[in-house]
Amino acid sequence: SVSLKANAILQPDFRFEDLGIGGLDKEFSSIFRRAFASRIFPPDLVDKLGIQHAKGILLYGPPGTGKTLMARQIGKMLNAVEPLIVSGPEILNKFVGQSEENVRKLFEPAEKEYRERGDASQLHIIIFDELDAICKQRGSRSDSTGVGDTVVNQLLAKMDGVDQLNNILIIGMTNRKELIDDALLRPGRLEVHIEVGLPDEDGRLQILNIHTAKIRTNNILDTDVNLEELASLTKNYSGAEIAGVVKSASSYAFYRHIKVGSVAELTQDVSDMKIQRQDFMNALDEVKPAFGIASEEFE
Ligand code: ATP
Repeated sequence: SVSLKANAILQPDFRFEDLGIGGLDKEFSSIFRRAFASRIFPPDLVDKLGIQHAKGILLYGPPGTGKTLMARQIGKMLNAVEPLIVSGPEILNKFVGQSEENVRKLFEPAEKEYRERGDASQLHIIIFDELDAICKQRGSRSDSTGVGDTVVNQLLAKMDGVDQLNNILIIGMTNRKELIDDALLRPGRLEVHIEVGLPDEDGRLQILNIHTAKIRTNNILDTDVNLEELASLTKNYSGAEIAGVVKSASSYAFYRHIKVGSVAELTQDVSDMKIQRQDFMNALDEVKPAFGIASEEFE
């Protein structure tokens, strides 16, 4: 039998449908193939092939499209350590040296485990949300503190050091790829670039199915609600905004059963409450897509 000392192990009962990610099958497979597949193989075999694991990924695209969700779920699926998620602005610190220290600390748990367990160490994923925040000022003269500069440099130094450790994967996320420092995007650093865009109609239907799964199972969705119709009415909505629509529709359904006088009270038995088509129509008026419309106006 093969000694599976790989630092990622595919959970045996894994099913893509269980991940709760809608409309990102292509992106998901691409990330998996380019950044994770080799990690499931025994390290000595990977060595023989002369392959180096990808050290980093850049996920870019509009907010709320499932970038964080995907990164988390891939980690779970591969039995990685719960990812460390930090936001770019959070790393920046007004005290000299503190920002670099913040970056350095992120790598500590993985480094420690690698010293102790070598290739048998679990995979550690470090996620930088809003990565652009630390890059923006790099090299720009208006940046009086130079903090962004030193943070990027520290991150580069850390990423180059990952050569000796194969249990770390860095995932950078941004809504604005053009602001990311070129040095960070080179091979050996955040080398896999994946665009995560707004979902198409089919993707939106999948996302609606995911976010209404519970209310459908519990029979709280009225028969006049047609998810295909909602998928066609939510052009330009992100996954997060679609989740927001479902939440808003539920709030309208609750509210229909409440009378607000001197106190708020239920007007009737609510055990057979349903979320109706009209609740969704109200929700669509309330929750508007932020990104899609703005970008269309630009075009
Ligand atoms: P940001 O760029 O703002 O960090 P993001 O792309 O990382 O956004 P997430 O944080 O992954 O977006 O999404 C927020 C929430 O929206 C998710 O937890 C999930 O509930 C919902 N969501 C977003 N995209 C999807 C999707 N493709 N399928 C299912 N749910 C989604």
